Formats: sequence, C-alpha cells, structure tokens
Amino acid sequence: MPRVRESNVVAAQWSPNGSIGTGDLTIPGTSIYGANVFGPDEQRQRLPKAIFRQLQATIDRGEPLDPGLADAVALAMKDWALEKGATHYTHWFQPLTGSTAEKHDSFFGPVGDGTALAQFTGKELVRGEPDASSFPSGGIRATFEARGYTAWDPTSPAFVLENPNGAYLCIPTAFASWTGEALDQKIPLLRSMSALNKSALRALRLFGDTVTPRVYTTIGPEQEYFLIDEQFFYQRPDLVATGRTLFGAKPAKGQQLDDHYFGSIPERVLAYMLEIEQELAKLGVPIKTRHNEVAPAQYEVAPIFENSNVGTDHQQLCMQVMQNVARRYGMVCLLHEKPFAGVNGSGKHNNWSMSTDEANLLDPGDTPHDNLQFLFFATAVISAVYTHQGLLRASIASAGQDHRLGANEAPPAIISIFLGRELEDVFTAIAAGEPAVSVAREVMNLGAHVLPDLPRDTGDRNRTSPFAFTGNRFEFRALGSNQSPSLANTVLNTIVAEAIDSLCEDIESKMAGTKKKPGKSFEEALGEVIAATYKTAGKVVFDGDGYSQEWHDEAAKRGLLNLRTTPDALPQLISERSQSVFSNYAVLDERELHARYEVALEQYVIKLNIEAETAADIAATMLLPAAARHITILKGVGLTALAKETLDLVTAFTKAIKTLQTANLDENHPTDLMDEAVYMRDTVMTAMNEVREIADQLERTVADDLWPLPRYSEMLFIK
Ligand code: ADP
Ligand code: MG
Repeated sequence: MPRVRESNVVAAQWSPNGSIGTGDLTIPGTSIYGANVFGPDEQRQRLPKAIFRQLQATIDRGEPLDPGLADAVALAMKDWALEKGATHYTHWFQPLTGSTAEKHDSFFGPVGDGTALAQFTGKELVRGEPDASSFPSGGIRATFEARGYTAWDPTSPAFVLENPNGAYLCIPTAFASWTGEALDQKIPLLRSMSALNKSALRALRLFGDTVTPRVYTTIGPEQEYFLIDEQFFYQRPDLVATGRTLFGAKPAKGQQLDDHYFGSIPERVLAYMLEIEQELAKLGVPIKTRHNEVAPAQYEVAPIFENSNVGTDHQQLCMQVMQNVARRYGMVCLLHEKPFAGVNGSGKHNNWSMSTDEANLLDPGDTPHDNLQFLFFATAVISAVYTHQGLLRASIASAGQDHRLGANEAPPAIISIFLGRELEDVFTAIAAGEPAVSVAREVMNLGAHVLPDLPRDTGDRNRTSPFAFTGNRFEFRALGSNQSPSLANTVLNTIVAEAIDSLCEDIESKMAGTKKKPGKSFEEALGEVIAATYKTAGKVVFDGDGYSQEWHDEAAKRGLLNLRTTPDALPQLISERSQSVFSNYAVLDERELHARYEVALEQYVIKLNIEAETAADIAATMLLPAAARHITILKGVGLTALAKETLDLVTAFTKAIKTLQTANLDENHPTDLMDEAVYMRDTVMTAMNEVREIADQLERTVADDLWPLPRYSEMLFIK
C-alpha cells in the first residue's frame, strides 16, 4: 500500500470524544482532589481512633508499625475500595526495570454456598508473594530461590485506579528477596531518607534546635514529553519497538524558529492535559504547571513537591496516566529521552530539598541564624556533589540518556553546580577569608554575626547546568524523561547525609579544641569549616555555559569527570567510594549495589540490541524495497543518471545493513557483560548510525508516496 497524504489529514482532524467537563469548585464536595486515595482524611473517618493515631505516628515519625494494626487497616481499606467500585487489589511495586509492576488478586472468594464474599486481611495487606523469578535481580536471586515478597509501605497512601470496565486498589509496596535484600527502587530510597533524617537532625542540634522531630527530603519532578498522533506512531515499527525514531531526515522546519516554547497550547493537547490533571488529581497527585517545551510537539508537566517517597510514587503514576490518557485523544505520549534525532530531547528536572515540618532547610531565610544554617546545608550539598560526581552521573545513566547527555542541547555529562552569582560570591568570599562581602548591594558578615538576608530567589537561571540552585532548592536537571527518580534521589540523599555528618564532625572537633589550642565558638568553627570545604568542593561550581567547548576544557583542567556514555559511567556505581557511602549509611549493601550495576548494564545491552535488530529489519524490509522501486521508476522514464545515483546509494545501504546484521549476530557479542556493553556502543551503534545516515539520504531521494515511514515534518508538526 503506497503511503498517501490522506493519513496526515486524518491525523490533523480531532474532535473531543465526549467532554470530561469541569467540576464547579465552589460547590462543596465537587472537588475531586484525592477522591481515589485512601489518605489521612479517609483513614480518620474509617479507622478506630487509636489505630488511626498509631498509623499516623508511623507515617509522620517513621515509628515502627505494629503488625496488629494491619487487620483493622485492611478492613477499612477494603470497604473503601469496594465503595469505589474496586473488585481487585494489587501490591504496586517498582522492580529494577524502572517501571511499576502489579499482579491483581480478586477481593472475592467463594464461601461454599454458591456465593462469593469480599475478603481482605491484614496479612494480605502487609505482605504479598508475587512470583519474583522474572524480574531482574542482578544475580541476587537464583531461580531456585525465586521467592520474593512485597511489603506494604504505609507511608505512601493506597489508591484506586479506574478502567472503563472496573477498578482496582493499588497498595504501594516495597519488593525484597526472601532474604531481605532490596529488589526494588523503593527500599533504598526509604533507607536513604532515614539516613538523611538522622544526619540532618544531628546538624540541627548543633545549631541549637532541640525540638525538631524529623527532616525529610522533598522532590518536585518536572516531566518533559512528546505527543504525536497515534497514526504516525503505529506506522513506525521503530517507535513501537524502541520508543524512538531510528530513522528520519531532518525537516526543513525544525525548532529553529523557537516558536513553540511557552507558545499557546494546541487545543487537542490542552484537552489532553486537562484530562491527565483531572485523573491525577483524583489520585492525589498535585499537578501545578503545564506548558509547551522547546521542541515542536514537546510539552512539560510539573507537580507541587512532596516528600521523596510519595513524590516518586506519584511520578511513576504520572507517567502511567500520561500514557494511558493520550490514547483517548488519538495520540501517543513519548517518554523516551531522545525520540527524534536533531531535536531537543526530554528530561526530568528533579527539584530537591530538605525540610522539617516547619521550614525548608535550603531556604536562605530571614535571620542571621537561618542564613548560617542555610549556608551549612548548601555547603553539604556542594561537598556531596563534588565528592560523588561520578556516582550521581551513574545514577542517571541509560541507553536513552546516551543520546541526550553531552549532546549539544542537553546538560553535559560533566556534573557541575550552578549557584547563581550572589551565592557564589558569598562562598568565594568565605573561602577567601574575607570578613564581609557585598552581596547584591547588601553586606554579609559571617564573623560578626550580623547577617542581612541572603538574596532570595534572585531569578538567576542557568539552563545549561545539570545541578542548579534555584532560590530555595537544588534542581538536578540531568535525569532522563523515562527514568524513575528513585535511584538519583537515593544517591542524593545518601551522599548529602554523609557530607552533613562530615561537616558536623569537623565543627565539633574545632569546638572541642586540643590541649594546646582552645576550642572555638560555634560560629567560628562553622565559618572555618565552610571555608575549607568550599576551597576544595568549589571546583564543582560553574556558572558559565555548560554546553560550550570552553567548559569541557576547563572541567578537564579542574579534574572533573566527563563520563559520556553509560558504559563509562556505570562503574562509578560500584567504585570503592560509592560502596563505602552506601554501606556506611545502610542504604545498599555490596550485593544489592552490584545487583543494580548488573541490571543497569544488562538493560543497556538489551535496549541497544533491540534497536539494532529493529533498525536492520526496517532498513531491509521497508526502506530498501522502496528505494529499489524508485530506481525502476527512474529507469522506466530514462532518467539513467539519477537512477545510477540512487543505485549507488542503495548499494552502500545494502552493505551497511549487512555490516549491522553481522555486528549484531549473537556469536559476535563478547561474553563479559561490560565488554558486551562497550561492543554495543562502539561497534553495533556505529553500524546502526551508518545505516541511518544513508537511509536519511534516501528519504530525501525516494518518491514521497513510496517512502514507507511518516516523516519528522509530519510527526512533529501535525497536531
Ligand atoms: P522551573 O521550570 O522554573 O524550574 P517549575 O515551576 O516548572 O519551575 O517547576 C518547579 C518545581 O520545583 C515544581 O515541581 C515545584 O513543586 C518544585 N519545588 C519547589 N520547591 C521545592 C522544594 N522545596 N523541594 C522540592 N521541589 C520543590
Ligand atoms: Mg520548568
């Protein structure tokens, strides 16, 4: 069937398929926010008082959960879910693949008299036993001990997911091997949160705070994504199999006009956004911001920040809902990091901070005391990022990310921090031992303890920095759009916990003094420690253009790591330094850490393997025949010179396809996993790129009605 333009016309047509309407928010009870969440409000109404209080204590203060509680909670949860129309429940967990997993069980069981009764006990709530043998475990679990179990996480509320034909209760859970090792993303994240809690409380005590009961980390992930018409998607086997286009010539009109960013949102897209926001609101995911992104057909959605654990669960839900709802609008939501070559990729900006119930610890604050405390915590972050730059880089490494990091429109693979002019001046002055420093017309004097307000949210922005201070939080901007934020935040929490402890130790020892040297005052000790730390760790601070060649040269001079690809980056995950911080803070032991390394490397190889096979198939069975037909047409009308030109191209194409197929033959792959990853990157990917290069030339040569794949100009611009 020759491809015709009509499909573009169909793709461009859109009419709302039934309106979701808007609730009148002035009428009590019409707010749908949290309607499908078994949250504190629902719990208060349905649980006996004492049990409710105990559950809250676990949620708020991390107190161990009394197993006796589970039966009462399970009963209330089941009744609530049944009222919401749920017939099934599932433990909802996050295996190492980075996506979510669910296995549904019916609430209903036969009771012997021919009828069925809904049942759900505390035992079923607390613990499930999915067959774990098919989830990647990186060697933790041999198949003979396939048992894994899921354990209820009471700190992330259960919710009901709806489907046109029913609903089911999802219970956020952790997933572990029967020996208790983490097989998922949630367990280490929770462990890292309690590690940071402990260190940050220690620091707060040094600052004289004797009451704050807990510190938790927060995330607000901004999610970028593409939307394209589903007709185009299903006409492209590469998008279907790999999530990205393996072929596609650069369109005449790309993003050079910069007319899309923050532009008015196309009507169909806006209708879609409104519906995902409504769905997510029901699930208690607080979406706040939406806008067009830089590339054509690219958009962004961002929630209000939440604690890291709930925020991460919500982020996974968000991706799931975004993909489901797109289909209702005849579109497909692409979450791949780089769906279109030569067009901006998609990231996930991980806004991160540390907070007490009262205050954000990375908010400069209004009093001298708050400012000092802010500087302390900011120093800890700078020091952590400097010390563990490789680990941070490894935490976001994936096959998809390799097209983005280091490419010219994305954060470079070098991890650096942008502080903003004013804050950088403050640190530079402290490090230089200058007593007072002019900060944006204000004077800051650390020693004399008369500090003015630090300039707050100065509006400074540096879009090229992978790790930027943005007024009251840090924004780790290098995450991929498709990634679970779990590992990156686990790393961040753990390394900052370590840095806080190390700063505390230094301050304490300066205050204690020695036989010969008298102890210093807290302020003095603090000033000295910040200065000394910044002198070294400040190397990671950079406020220029992160995309420029100068920065790459400069970073090399400063000795910063530049790990361009996944095989370069992943070994950092299991470096001795990384192992020590993870095990010292009881976040991941050696086996768990190695498991993650193995799985990540394996996923990289598998993904590239699928891409290579798909590319070879499309090239051989779709593009080559189209080009051959084109040659016969040219010959038929005597355009011999043109026919010869195309034939030369096709001959080269055939050769390139053969090379790719041979390179990707099983028997040619090295057996060692790391060697194989490097082979995929250097040999297979290179062969794939050569096939693509010729294909993209053919796309510009072959008759339009013969070319079997939708073009960039169609996918990106027909909305
Ligand atoms: P921008 O595009 O300017 O970076 P957005 O408004 O798109 O800003 O997104 C900012 C994100 O930062 C939101 O998700 C917001 O909830 C989050 N955020 C704000 N304060 C914090 C904080 N203290 N901790 C974590 N995330 C935060
Ligand atoms: Mg944004």
